[in-house]
Amino acid sequence: MIALSLAEIAEVVGGQTHDIPDPTVQVTGPVVRDSREAGPGSLFVAFAGERADGHDFAAAVVEAGAVAVLGTRPVGVPAIVVDDVQSALGALARHVVRRLGATLVALTGSAGKTSTKDLIAQVLQRKAPTVFTPGSLNNEIGLPLTALSATEETRFLVLEMGARGIGHISYLTNLTPPKIGLVLNVGSAHIGEFGGREQIAQAKGELVESLPEDGTAVLNADDPYVRAMASRTKAKVVFFGESDEADVRAENVRLTDTGQPAFRLHTPSGASDVTMRLYGEHHVSNALAAAAVAHELGMSADEIAVALSEAGSLSRWRMEVTERPDGVTVVNDAYNANPESMKAALRALVAIGKGRRTWAVLGKMAELGDEALAEHDAVGRLAVRLNVSKLVAVGGREAAWLQLGAYNEGSWGEESVHVSDAQAAVDLLRSELRPGDVVLVKASRSVGLESVAQALLESG
Ligand code: ATP
Ligand code: MG
Repeated sequence: MIALSLAEIAEVVGGQTHDIPDPTVQVTGPVVRDSREAGPGSLFVAFAGERADGHDFAAAVVEAGAVAVLGTRPVGVPAIVVDDVQSALGALARHVVRRLGATLVALTGSAGKTSTKDLIAQVLQRKAPTVFTPGSLNNEIGLPLTALSATEETRFLVLEMGARGIGHISYLTNLTPPKIGLVLNVGSAHIGEFGGREQIAQAKGELVESLPEDGTAVLNADDPYVRAMASRTKAKVVFFGESDEADVRAENVRLTDTGQPAFRLHTPSGASDVTMRLYGEHHVSNALAAAAVAHELGMSADEIAVALSEAGSLSRWRMEVTERPDGVTVVNDAYNANPESMKAALRALVAIGKGRRTWAVLGKMAELGDEALAEHDAVGRLAVRLNVSKLVAVGGREAAWLQLGAYNEGSWGEESVHVSDAQAAVDLLRSELRPGDVVLVKASRSVGLESVAQALLESG
């Protein structure tokens, strides 16, 4: 973070100082909420959670070198006391971001935020120092903490913004106003909580509404809900997508022999070929989004294409392809699932497993509301149409729908199995897998199927 005195921080957050002998002492960073991350120069933000109260760690963090605690009560060590820690953290981030010389890029969407943010970061880093959201810390606490980790050297600050309702994105853009706002897609993630796709579009579109006139809205031309957001912004609009009208688009999209997407990237200032290291054709859309942002920030098509081709996955359990010593390949995509990514993952599975026996070990896609039955049925059917060798549906009702879809599509009997839980899937696979088999593991986060992938890798 940029260095700030305790007096300045107290003023910015409207807090009272307690037990601070010298208010000119500076916080030099980082701002942390986990007491174990506190060190010399840091500011510890004490949240009172359900299981633990951060204030209880006040003495320990100061012992570890922290300059002060930001909390809701005096704690016997240097502290800035406020009524509401979350608002204070937000106010501090807002203040610091204004003083940075960095360009802020924010992105949202139903699926692919973290994957795309990781791509953008890896592309922009080649041009200038870039700070970005670690993992998926995209909410009202993670976002200000990320922004506060920027320094004077930071040129690009890339922020993932998540929303579970109307007003959430506005809250975040108010803390860290972006110059470039990217909307990936309006899918069915959290549709149950939102009430419908229109509401999701309303919520995600708050990002482009926040942009200034000299900003840029980067929108997915292939998604009608996102395309329509062009009318909700005063900023310049740049479209990406496979559609011919897109400013940044892909031509000749295909999967290579090893199952990785390849395409010709077209930008308004030139074209160049991309062959990705990442698996899954849904990354083409993510790559185009990243390319559009990078082009807007002055990078050439060649520079962008090289960076996209070399980009890896920075976040775990997303299409991690690992080969066991016995030749079984495990594709761990257990981080999360939605209808779009399930389908992309199945296509990647058959591309990776060409000529080999393929297994799709799938669990439920959460939060689909009324669309749940139809979407699980469609995934089961696609597995048959793509000629996946075996489907193992894991879990309750939704798994039954997956299996039934497969059965109805192809009278599948032996080829599809419904097991009750992850352990049952592991037991089945341990006895059935043969060298050369390829196994995809994927479900929504709450199913926790990464345990299956881990067990398979350990037993190899
Ligand atoms: P979260 O809401 O959990 O933060 P996210 O939007 O950050 O999710 P990612 O973590 O990048 O999304 O990806 C989540 C899942 O969605 C992954 O399993 C991945 O396979 C899939 N996915 C990634 N990109 C896309 C895309 N463009 N379209 C559909 N699915 C995608
Ligand atoms: Mg994420």
